[in-house]
Amino acid sequence: MDGKADLHLHTTFSDGALSPSELIERARQAGLTTISITDHDHTGALDEAAAFAASRGIVVIPGVELSTIVGEADVHILGYFINHRDKRLQEYLELFRSERRKRAERIVGKLNGMHLPLTIAAVLRRAGTGSVGRPHIATALVEEGLIGTYQEAFSKYLGFGKPAYEKKYLISPREAIALVAASGGLSFLAHPSTFVNEKVVQELIDAGIDGIEVVHPSHSPELVAHYSGIVSEYFLLASGGSDFHGGKRNDREVIGKYFISTEYVDMMRRRLR
Ligand code: AMP
Ligand code: FE
Ligand code: FE
Ligand code: ZN
Repeated sequence: MDGKADLHLHTTFSDGALSPSELIERARQAGLTTISITDHDHTGALDEAAAFAASRGIVVIPGVELSTIVGEADVHILGYFINHRDKRLQEYLELFRSERRKRAERIVGKLNGMHLPLTIAAVLRRAGTGSVGRPHIATALVEEGLIGTYQEAFSKYLGFGKPAYEKKYLISPREAIALVAASGGLSFLAHPSTFVNEKVVQELIDAGIDGIEVVHPSHSPELVAHYSGIVSEYFLLASGGSDFHGGKRNDREVIGKYFISTEYVDMMRRRLR
């Protein structure tokens, strides 16, 4: 029987609010049967998730979300069915995470220059052992009483093109696709609507991307139909999920509302064979 699959979820190993076990429990309550945990530049959730999911009858597909850049646009690549014990993959993820820490320091420096006395320690405390990102900085700004709201942190300082914006470590989508393939996985273009440029979609198809994330909270029904069309046209795989970050901050309760049939996961497994 077909079940519901949500292949885009975050935990405390990146910018999510829930531990792997808490997330799986929520996924189960939301009626999902298959999930993928796709933390930014981190696979630390996967072992705990596999152990806990087995006891709850949930299938967990190993995943990761990588940030790449095309021109000025942030393009996210999801990797599924990766071997997260692959040494080269882990070396890259460690590099990306150390670059994220340096970037967080640069952002804090810029904020300090704008008379916001935030410390890097306050930011890193909120990231714990996970990948540090702008959500941790925004949360720290709010909780330290330096700014009113999480959204304001992005619209005034941290968002793309704002005064405290800093780029992450730059890799191309082609490199990310190669990295995922080398660790035995399939790569998917995440939430294409967030950069809206059909030329980039075409470039990624030419670069050998395996599929597109068709279902995502940022996609209208028209966009879902549009990306499904591209998937069919180029014999790609389709993915989808909620991009749930744990229901804190400005994250809506999207878990269980954005999913794909597990039939699509079966198609991925067949492509891997
Ligand atoms: P980072 O990986 O550090 O670049 O942070 C990216 C994350 O920040 C995204 O996954 C979103 O959760 C959040 N984010 C980025 N831009 C905005 C924005 N304009 N408003 C709110 N959240 C944002
Ligand atoms: Fe995120
Ligand atoms: Fe993303
Ligand atoms: Zn995500």
